[in-house]
Amino acid sequence: MPATRYSSATYRPVRNSSGTMTSPTKGLIPHVQVGKGSLFGWFDNPASQVSSHLWLSRSGTLEQYVPFDKKAWAEAAGNPFWISVECEGFPNEDYTPIQLQRLGELYAWGMREFGWRPQVADSVDGFGIGTHRMGGPKWGGHSCPGDVRADRRRDILEMALGNKPDARGEDVPEGSDARQRYAGMPTLQEGSRGADVAELQNALNIVFHHETTAGDLARLAPDGEYGTLTTARVASLQRYASPWFGRIGDDGVCGPDTWRKIGYILTGLDRTV
Ligand SMILES: [Zn+2]
Repeated sequence: MPATRYSSATYRPVRNSSGTMTSPTKGLIPHVQVGKGSLFGWFDNPASQVSSHLWLSRSGTLEQYVPFDKKAWAEAAGNPFWISVECEGFPNEDYTPIQLQRLGELYAWGMREFGWRPQVADSVDGFGIGTHRMGGPKWGGHSCPGDVRADRRRDILEMALGNKPDARGEDVPEGSDARQRYAGMPTLQEGSRGADVAELQNALNIVFHHETTAGDLARLAPDGEYGTLTTARVASLQRYASPWFGRIGDDGVCGPDTWRKIGYILTGLDRTV
């Protein structure tokens, strides 16, 4: 029996679910939330008539609302065949690097667990990683998830296959997508708190290879509190002699240069620490 739960997600079952999935499932549909914050309340509200199997926040947190052997109410006629993940954010907004990483991990897991094929699906008759919009009127006639996120499916696949995207060229032009990652993030420092801090902590866990083991004492708890441990980890990253950035002042403050350095490392342009 394939798994009904994804162990990286917090399980929060909702009422909006009915019937069983067709097994094996055909693949994954990443939806765009068009909003922010956990969808638990909305999907547990019978009046909304919607749900998804999973939700992925901009800072990499996962919640599971519907077990994988039950239908979520995410894409109408496609519900019995596809696992759905709602992804926080907006259609014209790219995934955060941690979201791409998490989607890659999820897809890799689905390939092992469900036999998902390592390919992009652009039709309801296909298999792989698809879009809501490919279902047309029978799937509710949505444009979800928009061009930016639909175009990320190959990057997600590459992550799932262990090949980080953007790692092909030596010479990365100024202003390339990877270089712009995190460009808009605020400067954070000891005492900062909130979702941006949690995103930083998740990113640092990936950079330092502490991303998966909850019992790993070196792992930063992504609690959104920028404390001494986060400061120390940022300083360590700043001291790391990156081929692209060299060392930058190790003040433990995450400003624009530090965010860009993280973006380079997470997109595979740089060695990890
Ligand atoms: Zn959708």
